[in-house]
Amino acid sequence: MKKEDCIFCKIANGQIPSKTIYEDEEFRVILDLGPATKGHALILPKEHAKDLYELPEETASRVLLLAKEMAGRMAEKLHCDGLNLVQNNGEAAGQTVLHFHLHLIPRYLNDGLDMKWTHGEPSQEELEAVCELLTKE
Ligand code: AMP
Ligand code: ZN
Repeated sequence: MKKEDCIFCKIANGQIPSKTIYEDEEFRVILDLGPATKGHALILPKEHAKDLYELPEETASRVLLLAKEMAGRMAEKLHCDGLNLVQNNGEAAGQTVLHFHLHLIPRYLNDGLDMKWTHGEPSQEELEAVCELLTKE
């Protein structure tokens, strides 16, 4: 897909209107149009990167600082009881918009949102094999 066709590029750069809660030179933070909970927001870098793999390191480090700032604002203004950060990469992970975005999902006690997964029961050998695979240079 060409960058010119990317909807989040257009939103991040102001060509398509959005409910913006924060903006600086590098990022725009918008409300998700299909929110999981009240206040669900997305951090969008203005420079196109498809996903975490493509995201420049400097942007990757600054995005979490911004998430922390937004988290504080959400706690103060929304009085949420918790917050999930979600960031999907690739179709297998549920990414539907191919421009990096970090979800900020405020959570409320008994909000009914189910983000749980079923827990596997790997053997010690299986855990060791994965551990070795991911630890090796
Ligand atoms: P993901 O599945 O991680 O790619 O998430 C895409 C998110 O973008 C979904 O939560 C959508 O509700 C949201 N979304 C899609 N289009 C728009 C839009 N034009 N404005 C705001 N949020 C959007
Ligand atoms: Zn884009």
